[in-house]
Parts: sequence; structure tokens; C-alpha cells
Amino acid sequence: MELLVATHNQHKKEEIQQILEAEFVVKSLTDYNLHDEVVEDGLTFHENALIKAKYCFEKTGIPSLGDDSGLVVESLDGRPGIYSARYASNHDFPKNIAKVLQEMEGNKNRSAYFVTVLCYYTSKGPEYFEGRVYGNLLTENKGKQGFGYDPIFVPEGHRMTFAEMQAEEKNKISHRKRALDAFLEDLRK
Ligand code: IMP
Repeated sequence: MELLVATHNQHKKEEIQQILEAEFVVKSLTDYNLHDEVVEDGLTFHENALIKAKYCFEKTGIPSLGDDSGLVVESLDGRPGIYSARYASNHDFPKNIAKVLQEMEGNKNRSAYFVTVLCYYTSKGPEYFEGRVYGNLLTENKGKQGFGYDPIFVPEGHRMTFAEMQAEEKNKISHRKRALDAFLEDLRK
């Protein structure tokens, strides 16, 4: 069975294909020649995941998966949240990290979590799956791997930041992996 994932990102498509194994043949927006700009103007992770999945399903009729992820910081009332990718500047990871660290300056509460919300859209409508990884934020960057807020995030029970871990190690415990596992478990029921 085919699954259309609402991304042009080949890396994301392959990561999802690996996790879903033989369950689905994963396709991307590029595979279906879908190049419209989908405006993610939802106010929650769920709304944004729905916007993407629904767009794909309505265009193709193929079961579709939309995802939205971000970093939720307890002492910042949940910011950057849905604005994670563009908190200071669009996809400028160092600037976004700097803004979060500056807002947290002097704050002893370093708790944060990454979350991924998946929306699986079929003729039956939307279904949602969520994955979280809890941890703490450092006061400065450590490590060079990964992307986004990885250099300041130390997952609970670990000493290294996500940016110091090998991709395979991060992908075993990541929010994306946990959300996809929840999706897979539901499919197999
Ligand atoms: P997206 O919804 O997967 O595109 O994620 C939105 C934004 O959240 C990214 O641009 C990053 O800033 C942040 N983010 C999501 N997942 C991760 C992660 O695994 N590590 C670091 N940052 C992440």
C-alpha cells in the first residue's frame, strides 16, 4: 500500500520508509509532482499536521501523512512551539537557538520536550499520533550533528546532546520515531 508523506525532504521520506519497513511504500510530494505552497497557518501542531495531510489526500486520494514538530520549553510557556522553525529567523538554526537561550537566561528550570504530531488522513478522515522526548536545555551549544535545536537538547537519561549523538542513536529515541511507532502500532491492531 502506498503512503504519501507531505514533504519534499528526501531524507525525511527515507527515515519514515525505514521505520515503516514493508508496511507501506512511502512516496513524497515530489514523487507526485505536487509543488503548491501549503500554508501552515494552524495554531497547534495538530492543525498544521492536518493541513498538510488533508492537502495530500485531497490531491491524490492516497492515504496521506502530515507531520508537525517542534520544541516546547516549560519556562517559556511552551515557546517556541509551532514557531520552532522560524522563532528568530526562518530556518536559521543558530539564531533560533540564540533567541531561546537568551529568553531563558538565568532560569534554573531547563525542562523542555520535542514533540511530533502525525496526522494520517484517509477516506475516513483524520487520525492523530503523537511522540515526545523529554529532556533539558544546556546554556550553550554542544555537538555538530543533527539540526535545529539538537545542540542544546539533552534527552532524559542521557549525557550527550542530540547533536553529539550518531543519527542512529538519536533516531531510536526521537519524538519522530515515537510518533511513527504509535502510528505503526495502530495500523497493526
Ligand atoms: P518540522 O515540523 O519537522 O519541520 O520541525 C519544525 C522545527 O522544529 C524544525 O525546523 C526545528 O527547528 C525543530 N525541530 C523539529 N524536530 C527537531 C529535532 O529532531 N531536532 C532539533 N530540532 C527539531
